Amino acid sequence: MARRDWTDEERYAALKLYFELEFGQFHKGNRSVIALAGIIGRTPSAVAMKLGNFASLDPTLDRKGFTGVSAADRALMLRFHNHPERVVDEIERAVDRISLPSITEASIISAQLSDISDSTAEMSDHAANFDVSGRPTVGFRTARVRLNQSFFRKAVLSGYRFQCCVCGLGLHRLLDASHIKPHNEDETYRLRPDNGLSLCRNHHKAFDEGYWALDGRLRLEVDQKVRKLAQADETIGELLLRFDGEQIRAPFRYMPSTHAIEWHRENVFGKSEPIFGSKQPV
Ligand SMILES: [Zn+2]
Repeated sequence: MARRDWTDEERYAALKLYFELEFGQFHKGNRSVIALAGIIGRTPSAVAMKLGNFASLDPTLDRKGFTGVSAADRALMLRFHNHPERVVDEIERAVDRISLPSITEASIISAQLSDISDSTAEMSDHAANFDVSGRPTVGFRTARVRLNQSFFRKAVLSGYRFQCCVCGLGLHRLLDASHIKPHNEDETYRLRPDNGLSLCRNHHKAFDEGYWALDGRLRLEVDQKVRKLAQADETIGELLLRFDGEQIRAPFRYMPSTHAIEWHRENVFGKSEPIFGSKQPV
């Protein structure tokens, strides 16, 4: 097969796949890799290599010395890191153009199980998406937002191998891709996978309430007030205190952002008063 350069669209499709797959799936025997290779007319090895290139460019992983990464791949990953919003939009447009169906099992499962639907079907009817003056309709904008949310969810959960990073729970429907720094605080952090944690519903809510936070070494710290309650109530101990001081299960790509973790510690951690049920702890 004659060597030909990757087009932008092919590169975007590979990047989408990169964010949907889990560690250990970037190889030529993987069904999703084979499917994408068939669609874009390349060998599975070439696609697997491209995914490896993207992994080597993860700014939060130390993989210096990796060779064979093209300048275009490097530029795309850098752009994604700085402007994820824009790049995710471009990925979706490109994937639309080459009519790439949702190709990973993980994405199918998470679309089925997630309350955020995959909006690819809604996006394909372009005519209905613009009003007479050419402005995007509310429906179109809603579909875009959902698509972006779906990207964030897949990218974060697959990074953490579809497990709660605190307790290890792996039931998809009970997992959230939680924002460390809420996106209404900082729009640029809305889609960055390093602003996400894979958490079960309980640990997510407890994080948002400020009952626990992370330190610079990704160790969990439980708020004092909650700690006190936990001494008298073993269910709180089971839920939170037993993880106090432990390191979370780290993702294989995009380690949590230090900036986001510090923001959460400063602005959310310990700020709310834990309210106990009518049964007072003894
Ligand atoms: Zn959990």
